[in-house]
Amino acid sequence: MTGFGALADGGLAWCEDGEVVDLRALGDVFAQPTLNALMASGRHAWREAIDVARSHDGPRPQAPRMRLPFDVADYVDFYASKEHASNLGRMFRPDQEPLLPNWVWLPVGYHGRAGTVVVSGTDVVRPSGQLRAGEWGPSQRLDVELELGFVVGVPSQEPLGTADFADHVFGVVLVNDWSARDIQAFEYVPLGPFLGKSFRTSISAWVTPLALLEPRRVEAPQQDPPPLPHLAGGRDWALDLDLSIELNGEVVSRGNARSLYWTMPQMLAHATSNGATVRTGDLMATGTISGREPGTEGSLIELYGNTRFLADGDEIVLRATLLGDVRGRVVG
Ligand code: CA
Repeated sequence: MTGFGALADGGLAWCEDGEVVDLRALGDVFAQPTLNALMASGRHAWREAIDVARSHDGPRPQAPRMRLPFDVADYVDFYASKEHASNLGRMFRPDQEPLLPNWVWLPVGYHGRAGTVVVSGTDVVRPSGQLRAGEWGPSQRLDVELELGFVVGVPSQEPLGTADFADHVFGVVLVNDWSARDIQAFEYVPLGPFLGKSFRTSISAWVTPLALLEPRRVEAPQQDPPPLPHLAGGRDWALDLDLSIELNGEVVSRGNARSLYWTMPQMLAHATSNGATVRTGDLMATGTISGREPGTEGSLIELYGNTRFLADGDEIVLRATLLGDVRGRVVG
């Protein structure tokens, strides 16, 4: 894992190949409690910060406690994996086409809850809710969703094109969008996910700057139909990152992020295409990343065909090439 993080007792740190360097003595943005000031400083400053961090001979704390790396402004979650959207469509709407007609025309998304985004290592309390008509209780179908998230550094008052992505987005985190499938299935019609998702979302403690992901950029899969002009472009921003889900120490899924149908620049362009502004700290997640082959799915409901969900005490660790891990234990 490589990137910037925020130390629990204040100031920023740099992590490269698992080795952490305390950057506080550098002062300025590095002495801030979160990455927000650094993220707002722009692309040129980001490159300089990487160079400074890499050459800084500061204290090297062993297994430091980390806080949420940035103050999350807004949180949006997309649904950009065709395999995941098809798998869930088949389960949630078995009598219809798995993919709804709008899916190939735009990256479908919803606004999540910024205030309940937490840093890796935070326990996840099992949510209670309406599991079906007239029934309230603790979720019996608690699940995970392995996703990438990107965070806006430089704000914008204008719609952003796909070519503006690298000027505005600071970096990428790994995301676990914890999901209560029973609450979700009952509540989601017709306005989308709400309490089945909003109880908690975990992100990695380290934000990997976009510049360090350059060597991992690949062409995304062909889109059919071709996207409208404002969503064209950004197809060279698929990321060849290996992904895995570990359940109680055993790897149960191995996938790759390059399979996503919609890319992150397309998501940002879509999110601002109506004139919505973006702020420093806006977090946008890709949606669950599932591949075609069995064993590459990004959620338990897909991996186990509705038969295995999380029990109290279960621990999940998500991992990805270059990115920080996302760890969380379920408590009752
Ligand atoms: Ca999700």
